[in-house]
Formats: sequence, C-alpha cells, structure tokens
Amino acid sequence: MKRGLIFLGMILIGLPLLVSVPALTKKEDVFARRRSNMVQSQLRSRDITDPGVLKVMGEVPRHLFVGERYRNQAYNDHPLPIDEGQTISQPYIVALMTQYLEVDKDDKVLEIGTGSGYQAAVLAGLTDKVFSIEIRKLLAEKAALTLRTLGYGAVNVKYGDGYFGWKEASPFDAIIVTCAANHIPPPLFKQLKEGGRLIIPLGSTTYFQTLTVVSKEKGKPRVDHITGVRFVPMVGEIEKK
Ligand code: SAH
Repeated sequence: MKRGLIFLGMILIGLPLLVSVPALTKKEDVFARRRSNMVQSQLRSRDITDPGVLKVMGEVPRHLFVGERYRNQAYNDHPLPIDEGQTISQPYIVALMTQYLEVDKDDKVLEIGTGSGYQAAVLAGLTDKVFSIEIRKLLAEKAALTLRTLGYGAVNVKYGDGYFGWKEASPFDAIIVTCAANHIPPPLFKQLKEGGRLIIPLGSTTYFQTLTVVSKEKGKPRVDHITGVRFVPMVGEIEKK
C-alpha cells in the first residue's frame, strides 16, 4: 500500500515535468525555426553576405529581447515596440548596420542606444569588447539584466547620454548609433580610431533619415550614404544644438 502511494506520488510530481519540458522545448524549436527562416528570407535573400553576421543573426534569441506579447512577431520583417515608446529595429536593419561595421574578433565597439540589448548581443557574438550606452535608466537596467541572463554578460552597459561617447573606453574600432541624429556628435568621431567606422541614421529626427557610414581617414571623415531609414530620435545633449 505504502509503496503504491510513493509510486503515485512520483507520478504526480513527474507529470507536470513531463508535460512542461517537451512543451517548452517545442516552443524554443518553433523560435529557432523562425530565426533560421528569417536569416534565409530576410537577410541572405537581400544583401547580407558576411558569414559572421549571418551566423550570429541565426543564433541570438531575438524573441527574448521583446515583451511577451510581441514574442510571436520577433522574427517578422519589421521593427517592434520595446518599453518607454522605443523600438527595436527590423532584423534586416540590425544585420545591415552590423555588416557595415566590419567587426573583427578583437575590435572594440561602442553602441549608442542600448534599448532592449538585442543589437548589443549581436555585436557580442562578433567580439568580446562591446560597450553600450542608454539614456533611459529603466531600459539600461533591463537590457543589462537581459544580457546577463542570456549569457552576454561581457557587454558593458552604461546609463548616460551617448552624445559624449565613452571616453575611458575609447578609442573604438567601430561605433554604431541606433537613434536618429541631425549631426554626428563630435565626441563620437573623436573617439573613433584611425581607419574606424561609425554608422548613424542621419537627418531629421522626426521623419526619415539616411543610414550613413563615416570612416576616419587621416583624421578626416569619409561619408557614404546607404539607404533611407526611420529611427526613434536621439535625445539629451543633441537637442540643445
Ligand atoms: N539598439 C536597440 C534599439 C534602440 S532604440 C536594440 O537593439 O534594442 C533607440 C534607443 O536609443 C532608445 O532606447 C533610446 O532611449 C536611446 N537613446 C536616445 N537618445 C540617446 C542618447 N543620447 N544616448 C543614449 N541612448 C539614447
């Protein structure tokens, strides 16, 4: 009798485990499949060719950087809302900007606009030296926690105004600005290494911008215009200029 009860107890304890583990795994499988479809249909089919970028875009769990209600849309071909009225860019734009940065394994990279932490995680798949600044405290804290939880704890997140860059960590091989600016913040260009690349959505902060790549050649900027984009505005110091 007693043995029977113990057995029954084991079944009752084990049952929820048996039900929930496969359910969870199945769900993760669904996201992994969607992620790999996204790489194929949104990145490879367009102009993303860098093997490192394609690999990391196929690995970073984008669905875990957005709120639960947006998880099902995480691998769709469009941006998504995050907290505080901000947005996470469409996967293709994340991949395109990352590809233009040409990140090498030992490169030091600075991101302005941590947001959800997704772009920072993508960069962390390419180098160990990622620094990211976010001006909204809640977002900075939440992103740092998400990154730590998902194993991207090497990313350095700072709460502050990215207009001034991160002097103590400079110079950088690459800088990525993920909010719209009407000019290149001079401290950022200053903190860029000779031969380094800076990518920034440049133009009107309320309407459309041009994704712009600026390389530092003999101390001077060489500017290339890539494509039209729409980003949330950079705020803080830049609004005073
Ligand atoms: N790269 C993010 C998305 C960025 S959305 C991701 O992958 O999720 C743009 C972010 O830039 C917002 O979170 C916004 O708060 C931040 N931002 C705006 N102005 C800023 C500034 N001056 N310095 C740092 N971050 C800024």
